[in-house]
Amino acid sequence: MSQVEQQYRDRTPRSAELAAAASVVMPGGDTRAAAHYEPYGVTLVRGEGPFVWDADGHRYIDLTVNYTSLVHGHAYPPVVEVMREWAGRGTAWAARCEPQIALAEMLVERVASVDTVRFTSSGTEAAMLAIHIARVVTGRHKILMARHGYHGSMEETEIGLLGIEGPNTFLAEYGDAADFARVLAQHGDDIACVLLEPVMGAGGIVPAPPGFLAAVAAAARRAGALFIADEVICFRLATGGAQSLHDVTPDMTMFGKLIGGGLPVGAVGGRAEVMAVSDPRNLRMFVSGTFNGNPMTTAAGTVAVRELSGERIAVMHQLMGRLRVGLEAAARRHGLPFAANHAGSLLNVFFSPEAPKATIVREDAAAIRLFHLAALNHGLFIAPRGMMALSTVVTDALVTEVVERADAAMADVAREVA
Ligand code: PMP
Repeated sequence: MSQVEQQYRDRTPRSAELAAAASVVMPGGDTRAAAHYEPYGVTLVRGEGPFVWDADGHRYIDLTVNYTSLVHGHAYPPVVEVMREWAGRGTAWAARCEPQIALAEMLVERVASVDTVRFTSSGTEAAMLAIHIARVVTGRHKILMARHGYHGSMEETEIGLLGIEGPNTFLAEYGDAADFARVLAQHGDDIACVLLEPVMGAGGIVPAPPGFLAAVAAAARRAGALFIADEVICFRLATGGAQSLHDVTPDMTMFGKLIGGGLPVGAVGGRAEVMAVSDPRNLRMFVSGTFNGNPMTTAAGTVAVRELSGERIAVMHQLMGRLRVGLEAAARRHGLPFAANHAGSLLNVFFSPEAPKATIVREDAAAIRLFHLAALNHGLFIAPRGMMALSTVVTDALVTEVVERADAAMADVAREVA
């Protein structure tokens, strides 16, 4: 066992006990593949601002912010206040609520391509709904997405993350509009929609090259398929969504994560004529959901979205730029190969000479695993795949602290691989 892993085990005995208990009642002791890692994950007990605390009492700077969703950090006071209010008014009921309208209005106002909105309870359900709408509108059944793209844990999209095609799933290379056009030309009559992330999240924070989204959207339109932008992660990159940086007008947009203010959420927005098929009055589809648009979630989400101003986004982007430079310099100091994929407040680090494009197979698998555990040992909570995201409550001083802690973690990694 590496010294890094030994140190991890030594400092997290309570998390080890809890992982053992969890593995009796949950396969692998977990219920969320992306957050799983070996030898066992820490159990967290609390989050506040940019920090989380584990069951052994250690504090971490949280650079996952629940996989980018807590854009204002944990227990953000304005969100907590509105949640308190709504908890006392009842958390869900089988009728419309005012915050639902307010959040829908905000999305319509911010995102130029969105005329109307339907809420779901997760990003996965947003994908299910968007694909369902596309199928009803086009009368076709298949979908096209990027190899190693991620649009949630429904089978037809989840296999794409793994790079596997299926009976309803075609794949093309992210960043290669000609490859998308080729698949559309070949199978256009069967394809209901094309789904794309403006920046690949799970695929390693790969930003779309200029012109790529617009070219794929045009090819989709020529083939009579709908173009769906997945902004579940990317909505944090610009007030108008990442699509506003790309001069593209999707037929539908998927939302999730930050628009729930920390609670489970998803939404699909889009062109009025397209969204109209989900109008409950016309009985073309029956899409419901007990918790869709519930008051707690939409009230919290309204605050989170309102407080995500262009200025705050710009500050996060500037701080992430600093963090990237700091990490790169630290890696160089310790003689480790280093590369990063970077988009605004999102970063994915790789301990290889070049950052891969759209992959989940890593040549630096051993090094990133070691760095992830070493980072935990030094009080940094990052995604096991090396992804980091900032929130609006991260300060300049905290970025300096992250770099210092990452430097210490890299020293441990370098010692181990030497
Ligand atoms: N799309 C993207 C781009 C995502 O990153 C995710 C979640 N990581 C989803 C969809 C699915 O969202 P959820 O986890 O809320 O189902």
